[in-house]
Formats: sequence, structure tokens, C-alpha cells
Amino acid sequence: MAIMKSAASRFADSRGRHDHRRCVSKALHTADEVCAERGLNLTPTRKRVLELIWTRHAPIGAYDILSRLSKEGRQDAPPTVYRALSFLIGAGLIHRIDTLNAYLGCETPKHLHAAQFLVCRSCRAVTELGDPAIARLLAQRVKAAGFTADARDLEIKGLCDTCRGSADAT
Ligand SMILES: [Zn+2]
Ligand SMILES: [Zn+2]
Ligand SMILES: [Zn+2]
Repeated sequence: MAIMKSAASRFADSRGRHDHRRCVSKALHTADEVCAERGLNLTPTRKRVLELIWTRHAPIGAYDILSRLSKEGRQDAPPTVYRALSFLIGAGLIHRIDTLNAYLGCETPKHLHAAQFLVCRSCRAVTELGDPAIARLLAQRVKAAGFTADARDLEIKGLCDTCRGSADAT
């Protein structure tokens, strides 16, 4: 629990102080609405996995999710968690960040979208841009090239503002 707490406060620092529990409960509430609208079944396991992903404003790996579930005394096998993750991706509630091999809660799941992510290679912080103009243009160019993309998301690697600041200072 101590680890989760320090991670939460670190992100409270980087995102401006806020009551993160409200973010989590808002995300879960939105997930209920999205699933009801789309006729999807947000089972307790899927919801708990989503909650764990939302516990911090940072991507979380599948093994991290599994170990937290087992600490809760749950016996979820890896395939169960992977199925829950692919359900959540399909429902547009989370994004997979390939660069980090991790998952991130989507802040705007009500509109299915292709997203662009700024991925910090130093602290692993991820910012979602979600600019529909970029997504549209990219989709057109990919199609014109006769290419079939596996995913429409885009990951841009680099350094975030905080990490660049500390790199400059040294
Ligand atoms: Zn928050
Ligand atoms: Zn998103
Ligand atoms: Zn960073």
C-alpha cells in the first residue's frame, strides 16, 4: 500500500495537487455509463482491473496488476487479466502503450478515438494528446500508402517537462 501511496502523491505533484480518489471514482462511473450505452458487460473483475489502472496517472504493466490482485487474495490467472485488459481496450476505456508494455486509463472514453501519446523515456509519464485532426490526417496518409495499420495510436518518445528540467540542471 505504501508503494501505491507514494506513486499517487508523485503524480499529484506532477499533475497539480488534486484529490485523485475523485479521478478514480469518476473514471469508474464513466466506465459504467460507457458500457451501459454500448451494451457491454463490465464484470467485477474487469471493473477492478480498470480501477487498478486508474489508481495512478501512469501506465501500469500486466504483472503489476496481477500481483496487486493476488495481494488482495484473488486467484485470477494471467489469462483472466489479459482478457479483462483486451475487453477494456475494446471498450475504449484504456489504452495500451506499446513502448512501455503497459496500460493507461483513457480520460475521454465516451468518444472512441485514435490517440497520440507523449511518452517520457525517463520517468515513463504519458500524456494523451487525442487530437482528432492528427488522427484523421494520419489515417488518410496510411491508407494512401496502401498500408494496413495494426493500431491507430501514435507514440512519441522523448523527455517530459519535469525530466528535461532536471536534465538541464545537472
Ligand atoms: Zn487524479
Ligand atoms: Zn483516450
Ligand atoms: Zn519524465
